[in-house]
Amino acid sequence: MKELKLINPDQTMALGQQIATQLQAGDVIVLNGDLGAGKTTFTKGLAQGLGVQRVIKSPTFTIIREYLDGRLPLYHMDVYRLENGGGDELGLDEYFDGDGVSVVEWAQFVEEDLPTDYLSITFTRQDQSGSTVRVAEIKAVGERFQALVAGLA
Ligand code: ADP
Ligand code: MG
Repeated sequence: MKELKLINPDQTMALGQQIATQLQAGDVIVLNGDLGAGKTTFTKGLAQGLGVQRVIKSPTFTIIREYLDGRLPLYHMDVYRLENGGGDELGLDEYFDGDGVSVVEWAQFVEEDLPTDYLSITFTRQDQSGSTVRVAEIKAVGERFQALVAGLA
């Protein structure tokens, strides 16, 4: 587990970019944190790091958006509106086992659908001398992401 302080949106994006360089097909990243915590901002940085040129929009109404123009396919999911068990209908397994990188916002709603290995990031707001910063708590679940987390600065 690692805790990083992110003092502005650029730092949130930079974390996404840094992680993107180390991703491979079938990787799953889950993002938790309240509305406005920085989940989509992080995903924008990650997309940039994968070389995605298209503009990343919040997938809130579509649940899944696919970006296929980067180094790896990026599947960006926001499951906030999902009903209980809706992860099955979405075919989340096929995305998770697929040829791309899956990023899931509000992953606590699909906890039972998650693979054995994934990278978990929880964003929280923290007030600091007049401004609001973010703290990212980054955790490797399973073996796959242990070294990546250990190497994060
Ligand atoms: P979420 O997807 O979690 O709802 P968003 O990324 O859409 O959150 O929005 C987060 C808001 O907070 C954006 O306005 C963004 O510019 C801002 N933000 C992101 N990271 C930081 C940070 N480290 N410090 C301050 N503001 C941030
Ligand atoms: Mg969002």
